[in-house]
Amino acid sequence: MKIMYNNTHKMAAISPSNDPWDPIGSLREFGRHVLTSVEMTVTNLCNMRCEHCAVGDSLVMKEPEQIPLSLMLKSLDEVENLRTISITGGEPTFRRQTVDEKIIPLLQYAKERGIRSQINSNLTLDYERYEKLLPYLDVMHISFNYRDETDFHEVGFARSGHSVKPEVAYKMYHKMIENTKRLSEAGMFISAETMINYRTYDKLPEIHQLIVDMGCQRHEVHPMYAADFAEGLPVLSLENMRMAIHSLLDNRNQDLWMLFGTLPFFACNSNEEDAKLLRRLRHEPNVTVRNDPDGRNRVNVNMFTGDVYVTDFATIPAFGNINNGRLDDIFGQWLNGHPLNQKVNCHCDSVGCCGPNLLVADMYYKDIDFKSRKAINL
Ligand code: SF4
Repeated sequence: MKIMYNNTHKMAAISPSNDPWDPIGSLREFGRHVLTSVEMTVTNLCNMRCEHCAVGDSLVMKEPEQIPLSLMLKSLDEVENLRTISITGGEPTFRRQTVDEKIIPLLQYAKERGIRSQINSNLTLDYERYEKLLPYLDVMHISFNYRDETDFHEVGFARSGHSVKPEVAYKMYHKMIENTKRLSEAGMFISAETMINYRTYDKLPEIHQLIVDMGCQRHEVHPMYAADFAEGLPVLSLENMRMAIHSLLDNRNQDLWMLFGTLPFFACNSNEEDAKLLRRLRHEPNVTVRNDPDGRNRVNVNMFTGDVYVTDFATIPAFGNINNGRLDDIFGQWLNGHPLNQKVNCHCDSVGCCGPNLLVADMYYKDIDFKSRKAINL
């Protein structure tokens, strides 16, 4: 039986005061975590091989058949409180066929249902395949970790397994910039994400300025996750990460919305430097700190197998499959029964925090029991 859509959120514009991906909103509304967001991996193909790629080990040169789109749509339809979908890869637009036969129907579904959509892309391919998404897409999410074409060449092909000529990389870099500018001018909401890592931490203001110049609507900043290709890269100290964020806040353009996510700083930390940074983030205009959606209000579905994961990049095995289960039920089993979730599912409403990202907790707080902590820095 087709469920009745709950469309009450469809008209609210995405803004610093309305981020439908943040699980704190639904946690406050329902008094518990509920599944409001589904991410779908539509390809494992990509034209790049970035040094830090969190799904790098899944990337392939050729891929198998997908589960039927009708099954994916039926599964989405069964999610009672669905508010957002995300489409990810690989590079989701790598094959035009994926754009026409999977991505556009999924975005059309979201539009019809009155929910928000996001796609993760590197925007380095031809403009036409991105232009097609304009009528449907809410957020185009890109990675942007570069000061120039040389950085792009170094970072973007580090794991190619063969050398990529600088001219080839430079051309892609300029294509990405041109696409971002054109799509922004055409009205697409582009959110450029920079990761804080050993390469970027002392260059964030310059990277930020390029994002402003491209006309993006939002700059997202997250720590690098030590997953897949990034597993062997140097882990940035918390001190350097704090310093990097302060320097970005000192030098940013305050007209651009800045969204920080999965930060390793918590209001239950006794460290005065952490408290100072959190206070600053809370009071800066046009700055938001998003709680991690993965496993809180979102799951990832692999569209080749139907397997359901907590994220597209965690090494945590699948805990369900849409061929034989409803997403709400599979999510419920993760939420209430999975031992890993029990480690980080704390909540301090006074500071709008619902616990650390699993990978971030593992990188910086291995022996900390977050469930026994409470916010002390308000
Ligand atoms: S919700 Fe968890 S991580 Fe956040 S402040 Fe409270 S105890 Fe710390």
